[in-house]
Amino acid sequence: MNASTLPAPLPTSCDLLVIGAGPAGAATAAAAALTGTDVTLVDMQDFPRDKTCGDGLTPRAVHALTRLWGGDPTLPSPHTGDVGILAGRPEIRGLALHGFGGSVHSPWPEHPAFPPRGSAVPRTDLDDALVRFAASCGAQVVTGWKAVEVHHAAASTAGIVDAVTFRAGRQTHTVTCRTLVLAEGVRSGIARQLGVTWLRGLVHGIAARSYCTTPRGNDPWIHSHLELRDAAGTAQPGYGWIFPLGDGVNLGCGALSTSTRPAKVNVRKLLGEYADLVRPEWDLGTPTQVASALLPMGGAVTRVAGVNWATVGDTAALVNPLNGEGIDYALESAQDLVALLPDAVRSPDGLRHLWPAHLREQYGDAFSLARRLATLLTMPGLLAAVGPLGFRGPTAPVVMGAATRLMGNLVTPDDRDLTARAWLAAGKLSAAHDRFWHEDSRPLFG
Ligand SMILES: Cc1cc2nc3c(=O)[nH]c(=O)nc-3n(C[C@H](O)[C@H](O)[C@H](O)COP(=O)(O)OP(=O)(O)OC[C@H]3O[C@@H](n4cnc5c(N)ncnc54)[C@H](O)[C@@H]3O)c2cc1C
Repeated sequence: MNASTLPAPLPTSCDLLVIGAGPAGAATAAAAALTGTDVTLVDMQDFPRDKTCGDGLTPRAVHALTRLWGGDPTLPSPHTGDVGILAGRPEIRGLALHGFGGSVHSPWPEHPAFPPRGSAVPRTDLDDALVRFAASCGAQVVTGWKAVEVHHAAASTAGIVDAVTFRAGRQTHTVTCRTLVLAEGVRSGIARQLGVTWLRGLVHGIAARSYCTTPRGNDPWIHSHLELRDAAGTAQPGYGWIFPLGDGVNLGCGALSTSTRPAKVNVRKLLGEYADLVRPEWDLGTPTQVASALLPMGGAVTRVAGVNWATVGDTAALVNPLNGEGIDYALESAQDLVALLPDAVRSPDGLRHLWPAHLREQYGDAFSLARRLATLLTMPGLLAAVGPLGFRGPTAPVVMGAATRLMGNLVTPDDRDLTARAWLAAGKLSAAHDRFWHEDSRPLFG
């Protein structure tokens, strides 16, 4: 390694150490820095960097961004003056669902909390802007170092961590910290060292994305195709999406999988077939930058915190099983965790019980129900049987309007309308059922 490729220096200690600078880590670092905390954010990759994603932001994500930004994310941040993170980005009106002989355009619902606006931003840009924002807020950002080992406090029997060793090339460096946040995404090697186990037997996603040119890059709808067929017209397991980015689209496809019904699908091949299917309508170019990845979903991890450490974002499997969205939950969990840190410092158990209890309260019911429905959708033929009921006939706009809202989890406990009350009650029943009989017999968010 010569002088020009030496990684940026790491500090020897900090109050809050955050591993991983995706949306979860960058938001944790930004929110903590705004409270005056001495925070260091470390990522093994240099930014800007790509992240395999659909790049879609529903109203829930825009809401979480607004909270972090301190105001309208199309305008400069009142905290730092950073240029609006959504300035000049597409303004998405709602979800266009296609399949089973029909197409329904469902605008985002009117809601007191969530704005009637979505967007889509390539992750190379979004994550870079979030990392810059964290730095503007006062976080020390260091890239090019991979966390390789976590160290426990010598006298601790309660799993208190006190340091993390990082590696860059042949160099290693250890950083001591008072609190550790794991925002490593789906791979989460350090989280595993702390006993965080992803329950892969439960429903999870496998998905591929690409970028395509099209004259319709400014289409105001996020498109989702729930019925995919190959060139011979044979139905394929999985769904497709087209998210407009202004100068092109993010086109991808995914499938849900469980240990009892593993998705037997090559998502990259399916992506090519899907692009062929929609090419005439969108005048699509050839898909480029095709990449695939797994999505942990619905909080399907067994441990999310210790006394002075906690997981956020994908590391805590905070992805909605019904639409594969995780950016919003990454941003939300990061900010909620920072808000809980003062309480954790005052409690002898720290975050050990506080953080899982918070995640269960926030997401337990909705994720339990969404996991259950997503698991049902892995049953062959089920979607083909019920799909036409939603897409055809005079009730289609109402049914699909509700589906758009529920798939996006655009419901809060304060909502009093019938759809929300039915959804919230079903969520409670589902979570109660999980507590009595859980497929894996281990509590989620434990
Ligand atoms: C194909 C696909 C499509 C998707 N589409 C959407 C979508 O349209 N909308 C949506 O909301 N969500 C979508 N998701 C989910 C979304 O991408 C994730 O939920 C989101 O990226 C989670 O953010 P995160 O910060 O937790 O993790 P990540 O964004 O994965 O960030 C983790 C970071 O940690 C770093 N890191 C990991 N290990 C270490 C280590 N040991 N040391 C140092 N750094 C480390 C990595 O380099 C990375 O930068 C999609 C996912 C996939 C796979």
